[in-house]
Amino acid sequence: MGEHHSDLILGIDLGGSKILAAVVSHRGRVVSSHESVTPATEGRDVVIQCIVDSAYAALEQAHVAASEISAVGIGAAGISNPEAGILFTSPHLPGWRNVLLRDIIQDRLGQKTFLTNDANAAALGEFCFGAARGAHDFIYITISTGIGGGIVIDGKICTGAIGVAGEVGHMTIDDKGPICDCGNRGCWETLASGTAMAREAKLRITKGVKTSILEYAEGNIENVTPQAVHRAAEEGDKLAKELIAKTGYYIGVGLASLINIFNPELIVVGGGLSNLGEMLLEPAFKTAEKRAYKEAFQAVRFASAELGRNSGVIGAATFALHEMKRLRHE
Ligand SMILES: [Zn+2]
Repeated sequence: MGEHHSDLILGIDLGGSKILAAVVSHRGRVVSSHESVTPATEGRDVVIQCIVDSAYAALEQAHVAASEISAVGIGAAGISNPEAGILFTSPHLPGWRNVLLRDIIQDRLGQKTFLTNDANAAALGEFCFGAARGAHDFIYITISTGIGGGIVIDGKICTGAIGVAGEVGHMTIDDKGPICDCGNRGCWETLASGTAMAREAKLRITKGVKTSILEYAEGNIENVTPQAVHRAAEEGDKLAKELIAKTGYYIGVGLASLINIFNPELIVVGGGLSNLGEMLLEPAFKTAEKRAYKEAFQAVRFASAELGRNSGVIGAATFALHEMKRLRHE
């Protein structure tokens, strides 16, 4: 409360499955938000219209006109160049190729707009307002359908030469592993994500392994989700427990590399799959401990993401705010 409209920013989280728009205060407080399902298969223009509609719905809820906010920040799933405002490609948005998303949204909403990657945005959100407050060197990872990441070195998000840095989900873990959405083989997210766990569950069920997982998927193999595997595991199902432990193992294999490469003080873990908790994370941390340098592992602390589903919109809004400040001082 007590905030001026000019302190408000519109944050947009564009994911492959959902679009979240929120009016966010400069202190990272979500004033209002609106969520819709991403009409990913209906093409670019429909998705863009959906972003605009969600943005206006969030603004209306907060009783703020688009002209009253100070900026718009978009965190988009996929490979983007924030400097140029281009979303190069997104594995979950078929047909998107080199889209000037920043300028399109800027034209539609009539406010200064900034574009960044969704996981880098979420990392920034956790850094400024969540679990990574006060950290200097930390890594944020989000494990859900895929694995996203943001790397903060010396208090700054590592963007790389053109803004693509931090794509931890696409480090190769198994050179002969499953084909990834990015075109490579055996990326971390093909082995350690929710999608990987569900794929493995379906494969084992098809092979006739005895399991209760199907009971939690309405008896339909197509409905096997990580949640179904989790519920079966909680009831003691052997296969389900094995699949979660195996996913945890692969999470740990990737974590060990990140720990050795970056020597972070903190790793913040978020995303839907991390809700599986100990069952998943214990084997992950154990594996990381076994494989990483002892000294590097001892220096790292693990924490759960604090901003939950809002990390992306808060981070995107914060990104826009920081960029506005940077432009003012240039
Ligand atoms: Zn990949």
